Amino acid sequence: MSRRRATALGGVGTGGGSDALDADVLVLGGGPAGTWAALAAATTGARVVLADKGFVGTSGAAAAGGNNLWYVPDEGDRRERAVRAREERGAHLTDRTWLRRLVAETWDRVGDLEAWGYPYPTDAAGRLRRSSLQGPEYMRLMRRQVLRAGVTVLDQSPAQRLVQDADGVVVGATGVHRQRGNAPWTVRAGAVVLATGGCAFLSGALGCNPDTGDGHLMAAELGAELSGMEFSSVYGMAPAFGAQTKGRMYQFATYYDGDRNPVDAAGFSGREVVARTLAAGSPVYARLDLAPPALREALRWSQPNFFLPYDKAGIDVFTDLFEVRLVLEGTVRGTGGLAVVGDGCETTVPGLYAAGDVASRELVTGAVSGGGSHNGAWAISSGTWAGTAAASFARRRGPAPRATTVPDEGRAGTGGSSSGRGTTVPREVVRDVQAEVIPLERNLFRTEHGLRGSLARLDAPWADAVPDLDASAEPAKAREAAAMVAHARWMYRAALARPESRVIHRRDDHPDLDERLTHRIRVGGLDEVWTRPEVPVREEERAS
Ligand SMILES: Cc1cc2nc3c(=O)[nH]c(=O)nc-3n(C[C@H](O)[C@H](O)[C@H](O)COP(=O)(O)OP(=O)(O)OC[C@H]3O[C@@H](n4cnc5c(N)ncnc54)[C@H](O)[C@@H]3O)c2cc1C
Repeated sequence: MSRRRATALGGVGTGGGSDALDADVLVLGGGPAGTWAALAAATTGARVVLADKGFVGTSGAAAAGGNNLWYVPDEGDRRERAVRAREERGAHLTDRTWLRRLVAETWDRVGDLEAWGYPYPTDAAGRLRRSSLQGPEYMRLMRRQVLRAGVTVLDQSPAQRLVQDADGVVVGATGVHRQRGNAPWTVRAGAVVLATGGCAFLSGALGCNPDTGDGHLMAAELGAELSGMEFSSVYGMAPAFGAQTKGRMYQFATYYDGDRNPVDAAGFSGREVVARTLAAGSPVYARLDLAPPALREALRWSQPNFFLPYDKAGIDVFTDLFEVRLVLEGTVRGTGGLAVVGDGCETTVPGLYAAGDVASRELVTGAVSGGGSHNGAWAISSGTWAGTAAASFARRRGPAPRATTVPDEGRAGTGGSSSGRGTTVPREVVRDVQAEVIPLERNLFRTEHGLRGSLARLDAPWADAVPDLDASAEPAKAREAAAMVAHARWMYRAALARPESRVIHRRDDHPDLDERLTHRIRVGGLDEVWTRPEVPVREEERAS
């Protein structure tokens, strides 16, 4: 990899930051997907700018949570069996070709992490345990690698809107420097990779508050299509007093109702009973009493951040009952996002690529959550593919033209005037969206009646409040509010178009899976939201 001068602008203490930059590839979002994309593009010799809403290395879901990976050696038929298993679990919405690519690419890139010095622990036999990455170490390393590769990093610099040329090709973006009084920035680029994460609706779930669906909105303003948005009702379990949603340990849980009587639920499969108990208004308590005593110390070492809040509160999770709640993680650990239509993670808009959670992960995880293995692998692999493809696209096209346009449609959450001064406070719009997407009885246990009611209450703010959002004080907050309204409307329209229950997506009025709906669903549009079935998943895949 070629080494160039490391640059980080706009962060605390740098006092710098340029208002207008040129690049071959602009990457928006600096979680795992964005940093892998930036590295892949820089490796080809491209000039790369990476802009993040927060601080690259600590912002986003992976930095806080860490990632176990889908990591399968190429031995005998192990990978092929893993592919088939995922097809089953994903209820046959995956694509076999993509699954095979994913497992191979992830394996190779995890090898890169080792070469860069990631501190993998060893197992009892002295072998490196490479299938799990601790968030802080992982993302600190990715920041270092990106800077070493000569990428210009704009910290605390949320992107606001994409920029197109006269041919409709994406040639850059605009945004603001949060720590420089929201001074505007513009980057002109040959291609753009969106890696802004999913959307968890500011629910407070661990690491997810920067993920407000901004990238989805920017792309949809240019007509990008989305897919799998009905698979958006993932909730993480957390202590009632906190936001720690690391979930793996709950495989050892038994659950108790408000009177501390056991409810008929244990492990992961008990989630639905827990959710229904909570939705009925009863508190739920948990205890990890199914964890074998001999394993408990090892569990502490494998997931230190899970134990932290309980230890601080003086709770022994193996012996004490503790109250739990479910926190919305939306399309972070859900599946939906921008439709990916080519091997380089091209979106349906030329010059625009999507990686990580901003992209639909249906191709590799289907209707089941990718959290726990496939999402982390997808962030690495899709980032690598998107960064490489974007660099190649930029090279083929040559320098981005100077005359560029920000389309008129990109006005949601910009105050409707050049001053950005509207009369609607973003916080109020956020509160209204949260009222529709956070309650379990609305989002997790869906019905046609409930979805239509929510949509009526979401369509109104989209038409009235969003164009009038006050963006003058905090432009990024206004865009976040607009993005969340758009996200919720895509989710619920897609949910209406899937009258069945399929893994994540539950319809209480259609509790069974309907074989005829074994296809992915595209959704798009802003003022008028549309849905349509994608070409059915290949028959031969389902038959074999
Ligand atoms: C608690 C928890 C545990 C998890 N555990 C696992 C696991 O074990 N295995 C697994 O496979 N997956 C797991 N996941 C999911 C996994 O973390 C995500 O799939 C992964 O982080 C996706 O990477 P990403 O880069 O797309 O998004 P993120 O890591 O969320 O990063 C998105 C980045 O985009 C930035 N951004 C957002 N908006 C803008 C904007 N407007 N402009 C510029 N930048 C912006 C954010 O600041 C952030 O840095 C877990 C998730 C959570 C919440």
